[in-house]
Amino acid sequence: MRGRVTAPHRLRIDTAALTDNWRALDRLSGTAACGAAIKADGYGLGATEVARHLAAAGCRDFFVATWAEAERLAPLHLPLSVLHGVREEDMPLALAGIARPVLNTDAQIARWRAAGGGACDVMVDTGMNRLGVSPEGVRGGLLEGLAIETLMSHLACADEDSAMNAAQRMAFSALRGATGARRMSLANSAGIALGTDYAFDLTRPGLALYGGVPRRELAGIIRQVVTPEAQVLQRRTVRAGETVGYNATWTAERDTAVAILNLGYADGYFRGFSDRGSAGGGTLPVIGRVSMDLVALDVSAAPGTAEGDWVAIDFALPEAATWSGMSQYELLTALGRRYGRDWR
Ligand SMILES: *Cc1c(COP(=O)(O)O)cnc(C)c1O
Repeated sequence: MRGRVTAPHRLRIDTAALTDNWRALDRLSGTAACGAAIKADGYGLGATEVARHLAAAGCRDFFVATWAEAERLAPLHLPLSVLHGVREEDMPLALAGIARPVLNTDAQIARWRAAGGGACDVMVDTGMNRLGVSPEGVRGGLLEGLAIETLMSHLACADEDSAMNAAQRMAFSALRGATGARRMSLANSAGIALGTDYAFDLTRPGLALYGGVPRRELAGIIRQVVTPEAQVLQRRTVRAGETVGYNATWTAERDTAVAILNLGYADGYFRGFSDRGSAGGGTLPVIGRVSMDLVALDVSAAPGTAEGDWVAIDFALPEAATWSGMSQYELLTALGRRYGRDWR
């Protein structure tokens, strides 16, 4: 039997940090239950692994975006909701009962009712104007006869101190008792940090589970979960006056020890990290442009660095977002399929 080749770069994923983050968000949710958004393949980490660990920690409500995502998770038999609702072509899978649809439009509601679909969730729009039915529609009887597990809405500005947060909370609160929904749910990660007024019966964090810090209140509570590690493919000395990388943007002021790592923007290590990112806790700066599959580090601070060594990339999400100019969400969800994934 042929052995499996291990990738020259991997994501080290801290299982204890993931489950601790969920427990911290669960505590901050007060009496509300705390679920988990695991769409986009668990924000890039791997939805199946994420779901397994969070279910073991006690999480009982999971959210994906599409039925294709739900289908991949079906073998786990988790309580799962599909945020984008049901199109006609989703109905066979939806009626098979692998997940509940979150009904977003009048047409989705009609489709589900006509099929006698059973338990569902409903999204109501309270000002974001993204997905969801109108509060007026809800008051007008749009949801009559549906078996609604969770009535939900979504905050547009929870990561900011915006008047819209309280306005959305009040608009959502006003629907309490207006439907037969068993539970109400409003807060994402940042919404949890706004306080238990926002938690209702169920919270739906995503980003913060994975180490993202959308509001300062969560700093010091949320732990980093994912660290990219890459192998040194070549170790070289760049002579004073020579340049490194595409377009020769970096010039050595003195003879410099340089390591070329197997990591690049095709792995979600974006070009914004060029001359700004680092490894080894800030000691090994990225020099020159990040390439598609390669990046150069100045390893003067670790002169023993050798071909084949593994190097940990600095990837605390709030800082990495600042350096790269990407959002914390993009940094997570762009982590590619090429990495090995090392759950510890
Ligand atoms: C993605 C998503 C979440 C999770 O949001 P985070 O900001 O990642 O915590 C919650 N609810 C809905 C409807 C979402 O689409």
